[in-house]
Amino acid sequence: MESFPSDRAQLPRNMIENSMFEEEPDVLDLAKDPQMHPLEPEEVEYEPRSSRLLVRGLGEQDLEEEEEDYESSARLLGMSFMNRSSNSQNRSAGYRQQGSDGTCHLPCSARTCIVCMFIVVLIASVAMLIYFLPKCTFTKEGCNPSNNQTKDIYPLATNGKIFPWAMMRLPDTVLPEHYELLLHPDLINRNVSGFETVTVLIKEETKKIIMHSSGLHIISASFKALKAKGGADEPVPNLEVLEYPKNQQIALIPAQSLEKGIHYHLELKFTANLSSTIYGFYNSSYKLENETVRELAATQFEPLAARMAFPCFDEPAFKATFQIKIKRPNTYTTLSNMPKNSSTPVDNDLVLDEFQTSLKMSTYLVAFIVADFKNVSRSFNGTLVSVHFTPGKEDQAHYALEAGCRLLDFYVKYFNISYPLEKLDLVAVPDFQAGAMENWGVITFGETALLYNESTSSIMDKQFTTKVIAHELAHQWFGNLVTMKWWNDLWLNEGFATFMSYVAMDYTFPDLSNDDDFLRRRFKGMEQDSLNSSHPLTTRVETPEQIEEMFDSVSYVKGASILLMLKTFLSEDVFKLGIKDYLNTHKFGSTTSEDLWKSLSKFSKSTQNVPQLMETWSTKKGFPLVTVRRNGAQIELHQEPFIVNMDLKNLTLDTRILWQIPLTYITFNSTTNNTASQNTYLLSEKSGSLSIASEVSWIKFNVKMSGYYMVDYGDHWHALIEQLQHNHSVFHPSDRADLINSIFRLASIGKVPLTLVVNLSPYLIHETSTLPVIEALDHFDHIYGLLEKRGFMDLASRVQDFALKLFDNIITKQNWTDDGFLVDRKLRSAILSFACRHQHLVCVRNAKQMFDDWIHFPYNASLPTDVMETVFYVGAQTDDGWMKLWSKYILTSSAAEKRKMLNALSASPDIKHLLWLMQAGLDGDLVKMQDLPQVLVAVSENLVGHLHAWNFVKENWESLTKKFQLGSFSLHTIVSGTTSQFSTKAHLFEVQTFFESQKENGSQLRVVKEAVETIKANIQWMDKNLQYVEYLL
Ligand SMILES: [Zn+2]
Repeated sequence: MESFPSDRAQLPRNMIENSMFEEEPDVLDLAKDPQMHPLEPEEVEYEPRSSRLLVRGLGEQDLEEEEEDYESSARLLGMSFMNRSSNSQNRSAGYRQQGSDGTCHLPCSARTCIVCMFIVVLIASVAMLIYFLPKCTFTKEGCNPSNNQTKDIYPLATNGKIFPWAMMRLPDTVLPEHYELLLHPDLINRNVSGFETVTVLIKEETKKIIMHSSGLHIISASFKALKAKGGADEPVPNLEVLEYPKNQQIALIPAQSLEKGIHYHLELKFTANLSSTIYGFYNSSYKLENETVRELAATQFEPLAARMAFPCFDEPAFKATFQIKIKRPNTYTTLSNMPKNSSTPVDNDLVLDEFQTSLKMSTYLVAFIVADFKNVSRSFNGTLVSVHFTPGKEDQAHYALEAGCRLLDFYVKYFNISYPLEKLDLVAVPDFQAGAMENWGVITFGETALLYNESTSSIMDKQFTTKVIAHELAHQWFGNLVTMKWWNDLWLNEGFATFMSYVAMDYTFPDLSNDDDFLRRRFKGMEQDSLNSSHPLTTRVETPEQIEEMFDSVSYVKGASILLMLKTFLSEDVFKLGIKDYLNTHKFGSTTSEDLWKSLSKFSKSTQNVPQLMETWSTKKGFPLVTVRRNGAQIELHQEPFIVNMDLKNLTLDTRILWQIPLTYITFNSTTNNTASQNTYLLSEKSGSLSIASEVSWIKFNVKMSGYYMVDYGDHWHALIEQLQHNHSVFHPSDRADLINSIFRLASIGKVPLTLVVNLSPYLIHETSTLPVIEALDHFDHIYGLLEKRGFMDLASRVQDFALKLFDNIITKQNWTDDGFLVDRKLRSAILSFACRHQHLVCVRNAKQMFDDWIHFPYNASLPTDVMETVFYVGAQTDDGWMKLWSKYILTSSAAEKRKMLNALSASPDIKHLLWLMQAGLDGDLVKMQDLPQVLVAVSENLVGHLHAWNFVKENWESLTKKFQLGSFSLHTIVSGTTSQFSTKAHLFEVQTFFESQKENGSQLRVVKEAVETIKANIQWMDKNLQYVEYLL
């Protein structure tokens, strides 16, 4: 999946226990009857009330035994709480014997009193320690930490019976092998009826099958044991179906045990509503040019929504084959993972499409679409590649077809593993939450990610479209052919696809080379990863929100970054051999990170211990800050975690952790005017040192920023800055961008004085390379935004003037065309956007003129695509311009143009326009729901709108969480976008208070912790730097 560029809080245990029996009737009924609950001092696990626990069970045993145990466990649980409560009272009573007020009375001596108080304090401390021990399981042996909070605890099903499984993960006693799925989506009434036969293999004798099912109404269920050839299949009698919606599970319980080693056919009939969100099997619509509304139904299953479309074993490691049949109106078409086998007319103008049986794959990769899309196709090396789109957009589909074929060809050759399907569909879906989704053989995209329009798509749009196609095609191997075992290793899918998309583009589209984009994503990714709320690449996840939250920059960008670092360290050849081995060894299977390290180790040198090297990078959050001190010919190195927030008492990162850092470096000798070739030094201890020639003028680490760490040069910054001032071209543009990013980031956490930033900046007058210029613009923009939103307008203006002076040469040099190479065009787009947003007079005048011409003479004045958004931005600053742009927004069929217009409309200085836009996004009619996060972020960047955007989020939080699932990337974008520029304690308090009030509807989200930390970091920035900004600028 490609997302767009964007721990459950524990109640104190006493609160849990005091409230759980009062508010949970299903628990209360069993637990309060003292006759039912004789005390047995066995294992008892204290659970938060949110898990709706009831009783302890015994795993895979006969149902009768289980039922007995449910009862005895209920007794245990109820009595244990009561017992603890009464113990507590007894203890209190015991203390009271000393005196009713809890103090010693005469004739106690003072000494006795002290001893007495000491004992009381000691007992109370021990009691509290036991009481507050997290996840503590009490047994005869004492208190042992529990490995799994929900293990062995059974809840109640919807019908009040015991639901025989309490864990989020499914048992591995039953393996699905094949699904036959018949679906009939009714696009008018927006519901779907389905029938499926699942062939399962029983691995261990059991009396239950647990499957996923969410929002489905199960009409009937039956079992048949499949006998060997010649024998008749035997129906299994009296099948009971239980539902436990909280874990999105159903249990199928036959009257007799299911035998080990036997295959069964499980038949299920069900109905559901098509989802009204853009997740699951959902309904959507679009307008034709004649305003006719056409309905469609499409899927987005990753990570957990296949269960919303059909009952299934919805975990990535449960791979199976799928045969899909869909009934559709005869005026529509269907698409699914596999080529169509047949189309048969059935009653009422319906046609039954039957698809070929799929390869063995995970449920999240299943997809089907019912729509009246058009397509363009080309047969390429035995694969039919097609691009599908809504009618009228054929001219926008040709580029994707070309790019798709070339990239497919690249991957087949690079991995030396053929693409295993006869067809590849790339489908542009009008309503789509993710950027794109890699469903095997039928990849779905948002329209902006697939369609390319010569007259409205900029060079960056083209680069973006190519990158997304490259990402999704890489998934056909990394993710589809070889899949992570569980979502904790999502980075194996997403980090690899991200990394491979850049490799593929370098080879296949060198004119669209994306190295600068990857570098800037690394900078941004490290910003998130430097927060205390970040997480390791491999992270334990269980709940739906935790799984959704894995689709973040850590899995995508950090994953890709450490692969880049590893490739640089091992060499490209070794790396390539390793990943080919990984794909071949595990094809059609599932893996963990260790499997990857194992494959890479087969080809690495004996001195390169890959598992050891990658241990900290993959299992710890954050990254190291390497501090450099030069002492003549000696370079002293020291590593520590890079930490943004200095709130050390709440830090959950062990500051003693050590990374094995393959430090790359170059040196420069000013006497000979010569840069030495790149070297590597492996820093695996807290400190290290290396020797350089004494004539070396400077040393630069992390060459081209290929490593995932930051460097603080201490006093050696002066030598580097001097070189930048003297002749910056000695450094590669990526190294210059790295130095700029590092010095701004280090200043923001107080590691270097802001004076150094000011000292470095004058070199920028001579900088003409895209990467360092854009990096500097970003940082100036960020500082300007913080000051402006705090109302320090004078200081903001001084920052703005300072930056505009630095870049004045380069601004005035630009022409307003689409001429030049990619880097020139990107630079033009970024610098003119910056200049116009910061009121550069010439820039604003030019843009205004172009906008007026475009409005009044639309047929003569087409806009250059690279500056189109800037022209729209300036045009929409007036009321009249805004209205005219809006009328164009409604009419255009180009998604790329719509995106640019929406950003410009959201930058209006008129609050009524902004409020109207946000509401339109929430309504989802005139502005699509999928675009609401973009609108909210853009309004938040607007001085006039930023407080209103936050208010809008607060007021509509419930609706937002219904439209975008908790933990989703969209919700992440909304929360971080609307809070990231707050820098006051009042706003910090407001954000914290609001989300705390949302309890399970948001307070536990990682993005909330990120938001709080970011605000604290902004407050810290103000505290450390404000006086220097006043002084220096
Ligand atoms: Zn992806």
